[in-house]
Amino acid sequence: MRTAIVILSLLAGAVCQADTTVIHAGTLLATPGSEPRSRQTIIIDGNRISDVRDGFADPSSLPGEVTAIDLSDKFVLPGLMDMHTHLTGELSPNTRNEALYVTTSMETLRGAHYALKTLRAGFTTVRNVGAKSEAIYALRDAIRDGYVPGPRIFAAGSTLAATGGHGDVDGYKAELLALWTPRTICDGPHDCRRAVRHAVKFGADWIKITATGGVLSDTATGLNQQMTDDELVEIMQTAHSLGVKVAAHAHGTDGINAALRAGVDSIEHGTFLDRESIRLMKQTGAYLVPTLSPGFKVAATMEGNPFFTDNIKAKVIDASEAAARNFGIAYKAGVNIAFGTDSAVTPHGENADEFAMMVNAGMREMDAIFSATVAAAALLEQSNILGTIEAGKLADIIAVDGNPLEDITVLENVAVVIKDGRIVN
Ligand SMILES: [Zn+2]
Repeated sequence: MRTAIVILSLLAGAVCQADTTVIHAGTLLATPGSEPRSRQTIIIDGNRISDVRDGFADPSSLPGEVTAIDLSDKFVLPGLMDMHTHLTGELSPNTRNEALYVTTSMETLRGAHYALKTLRAGFTTVRNVGAKSEAIYALRDAIRDGYVPGPRIFAAGSTLAATGGHGDVDGYKAELLALWTPRTICDGPHDCRRAVRHAVKFGADWIKITATGGVLSDTATGLNQQMTDDELVEIMQTAHSLGVKVAAHAHGTDGINAALRAGVDSIEHGTFLDRESIRLMKQTGAYLVPTLSPGFKVAATMEGNPFFTDNIKAKVIDASEAAARNFGIAYKAGVNIAFGTDSAVTPHGENADEFAMMVNAGMREMDAIFSATVAAAALLEQSNILGTIEAGKLADIIAVDGNPLEDITVLENVAVVIKDGRIVN
C-alpha cells in the first residue's frame, strides 16, 4: 500500500536527488524501549537523519530542495532488522535436486529477488548466516553499491561445520559428496583455525558455525553437539582476534552450553536451552536468536513434500515443540534476544510473522520490536548508525497503519519503507 507523498521542488530545474527529506510522523517510536510520541518531524540529509523535532515542521522553512513525506496518519518506527536469514535460496520440494543444477550465479540472482522481497517487508538490515560465499558477498556488495535494491547485509559465507555435521553436504552419492565439500568444513582446532582465517580472507563479516546437529540435514545423527570443545574455543579465539563475531547454530543443550562457554556471540535457535544456558547467556551477554518461524510453519507443510525425509520429519516435530517454550523461559529470565527468522526455510518476505510468534510465547510487543531494532543493532555492533531514529543514524525508517504496541501483526503489512533516506515503497 502506498501513502500520499507530496514532492515539493523548491529549486527550479534541479535534476539531482533532493538533499533534504522531511517526514511528518503521526506517531513516532524513535527508540524502541521508550514510549512513542505523537506529531513528530524527522529531517533527513542525504542518507542520514539530521534532526527529530516535536510538532510538524514546515518543509518550506528548510533551505534547498526538500522532499516532504506525509506519514501523519501512520505509526513510524526504525527499519526492522532480521538477524538470521539465508537470502540466496528458499526451501521447496525441489531443493535437494536443485543443488545439482543451480549455479552460484543463479543463486546470487535469486538472492537479489529475495532481498527485494525482504526489504519491501520492512527489513532494512539483515545478518545472513550461511550461504555460498561468493553469492552472498557479491549480493551484499551489489546492494551496498546501489546496483540492486535490498537490505544492507552483514554476511557470514559458507558455514563452518564438522565433517558429516550439519552444514556439510549430505544425502548424495559418495562421488558427489567428495566434489561438494566446502572449504569451511573443519576437524580439529588447527583445521578450524584455518577455516576461520579462510572465511575472513574471502569476505566474511561474521563466522557462522554449526555447534550441533540440524533439523534439515538428512541424517539421523540427532541435534546434539557436533563441534568439540577444543574446536569451539579455537574458532572463537581466532575470529575474535580478527575482530569478527561468531554465530552458533545450536539446538541440543550440550552444544548450546559448549558454544557459550567458548565465548560465542549469538546462539541461533537455542531449541533445547536449559538453566545453565540462561546463566551463561546472562554472564557473557551472548544473544539468543530464537527463529520460531520454521517450527510453526514447516511442520504444517511437510506432508507430501519429498524434501522431508523420515530423518528430517522426526527432528522437526521434536524441535518445534521445545523452541517456543524455551524461548519464553529465556525471555522471562532476561537474556539478550535479537530477532531472527531463518527465512529460506520459510518464505522470504514473511519475516514479520515471527513477531506474533514471539508475542504468543510471552514477549511484550515493545520487547519484540526492540529485539528487531535496538538489540539487533547492538548484536551487530552498529548501534552508532542503526536501530533507532535519532540524529546521526542512517535513515532506515518504516511506517504502518495501526499501533504495533497494541496489535503486533500490523507489522506484517508495512505501508512505507525508507532505506538510506530513499523511498523503497
Ligand atoms: Zn539458519
